[in-house]
Amino acid sequence: MSKAAISMIQSGLRDLGFAPGPTDGLYGAKTRAAALAWLDAGGAQADASLMPMGSAMIYQGSQKYPVHEIVVHCSATRPDWMKSASFAEQVAEIRRWHVQDRGWNDIGYHWLISRSGQVLMGRPENVIGAGVAGHNSGVIHVCLLGGAGSAETDHFSDHFTSSQNITLRQVLDGIGMRTQIRRISGHNEYAAKACPGFTVSQWLKEAH
Ligand SMILES: [Zn+2]
Repeated sequence: MSKAAISMIQSGLRDLGFAPGPTDGLYGAKTRAAALAWLDAGGAQADASLMPMGSAMIYQGSQKYPVHEIVVHCSATRPDWMKSASFAEQVAEIRRWHVQDRGWNDIGYHWLISRSGQVLMGRPENVIGAGVAGHNSGVIHVCLLGGAGSAETDHFSDHFTSSQNITLRQVLDGIGMRTQIRRISGHNEYAAKACPGFTVSQWLKEAH
């Protein structure tokens, strides 16, 4: 696992109130302890290998669905949406849409990526998300901020930043390191929607 991917996990753990030590990209004792505390807090079905290291399985929900797919989304917000707010405040607003407006018990996504390429955790990965109607068990949902007015056939760079490009690839790599992902797709492959506003299969083939 790359240092960048571990740093991402460290900042995610810190944002959730755990103490992984400095964000140094090293999977040391403090980071491991914080990861284990996070697992305990979430009532994890998976074992301690959920966080980095090895080809672990992550299971979701009481039925223990093995994680096998990542679906990419966008928030369908404009590039300057809540521009003066922090990323945490932006995520809180999306959570409010999902909880208050849609009646879900939490934000639908597992990971969110800001315009500047920061990462925040939504739902823990061992909890079934809400991203694609009828297609959530065993799926990790990742959401890019932006994408308002996009079309399914647009290119990544039409709506998202180069920082988001780098971070999304890191996030996908990181998830791939700790799960057995067999497919990475876009929401638009499952519904007549633009989301995430580009063709994920095409983007995956592009040079980094
Ligand atoms: Zn979507």
